[in-house]
Parts: sequence; structure tokens; C-alpha cells
Amino acid sequence: MSQRLLFLILLVAALGSSCQIEFTPSVEPLVLATLPPQPFGTVATQPETIHPTPIGEPPLSPLDPAFDPEDPALWILAIEPRWEGVDVIACEGGEMVVGCQAWTAEELELLYGAMEDYPLLGYVDGDVVFVRDRRASYAGQARSRFDEEGDIYVEIHIADLAWRASPANGLLDFFDPLFPKDDYFQGTLAHELTHAAIAFHG
Ligand SMILES: [Zn+2]
Repeated sequence: MSQRLLFLILLVAALGSSCQIEFTPSVEPLVLATLPPQPFGTVATQPETIHPTPIGEPPLSPLDPAFDPEDPALWILAIEPRWEGVDVIACEGGEMVVGCQAWTAEELELLYGAMEDYPLLGYVDGDVVFVRDRRASYAGQARSRFDEEGDIYVEIHIADLAWRASPANGLLDFFDPLFPKDDYFQGTLAHELTHAAIAFHG
């Protein structure tokens, strides 16, 4: 027997006799804080104050012969009643948030098209507020917020970089084939809509 092995045997024997580990069962019940189960798809409810659509009046359609695609206000009137829960901040005429700028008609047309084509729109079933952000530090950003009733909504900010930024940037690359390379603006919108879907169902 080597000296080293003998030493180990003695060490184990010494520890076994003089260094017992006491096991004292805890009498305190373990209580884990858990959230009550959340029913799928009912996370957010509609605040009644946002964009009431007059009953009996169909949403304005860009396909109407009278629709002027150069008028941003008409695009907002087409978007908001078509997608319940969507609020587009015009950033003029009294509807403002800090740091906003007015959308161009072209951008709102792309927003309309992105909503039409977005494959996961069924998961964006809470309130979404779109803000055209005048800052230049990001292409888009989705922020989860809570209204006065404690219901979650998502504020999506879209900035100039949305025109030049690759939409997926590694996180959600599977969206890239859905968009032509130069449609980064819509890709950014889709990216941020995905954050909203995850916020409502994550
Ligand atoms: Zn993102």
C-alpha cells in the first residue's frame, strides 16, 4: 500500500468519526411565489378610448378610388380601424409623444403592407402604438408598457435607420427571405412586431 493511499484512508476515517454532517429537516413548508395561470390570448384588453370606429362605417381602404396615397392622414385612417388595437401616433394635430416626428405617406404605406403580410399577426393581439421616432440611435425598438388599468401594450418606435438596417441582424434571420433586400423598413417593422407578439405571449 502506498503512503499516499494510506494517508487517504486515514483521512476518510478521521473525517467520518469527528466531522459528521447533521441533517436537520426543515419544518418550514417551502412556498414558491407563482403567478396565477394566464389564459392564452387574453393578456391585453382593449381600452375603449382609443380610436373609436363609427358603427356602420367601413374602414377606409387604400383600394377606394377616392383614396389619396400621398396623404399620410388617410393612411392612418385606413390602418387604425382595420387593425383593432393599433394606434399610429401622427405627431401632428395634437397627437404627440416626446421625440416623435410625422410619418411620411410612403412609410405609412409600408406599415400598412407590413401589417397585411406579417405572418404572426394573430399573436399581436394586444394594443400596439406606432411612433415615428426622430432619434437616430436605432432602427426600431419595441417597449412593453402598462396602461392605467395595468394592461400591457407595446409601443413600437421606428427611426431613420429602419430604412438602412437589415431587419433580422442575427436574432430573427428567418424573416430575411420574406423581404426584398431593400425593404429594410418593413423588415424592421416585422422585427418589432415580433417583439410585440412575444410580449403578449412570452
Ligand atoms: Zn429587436
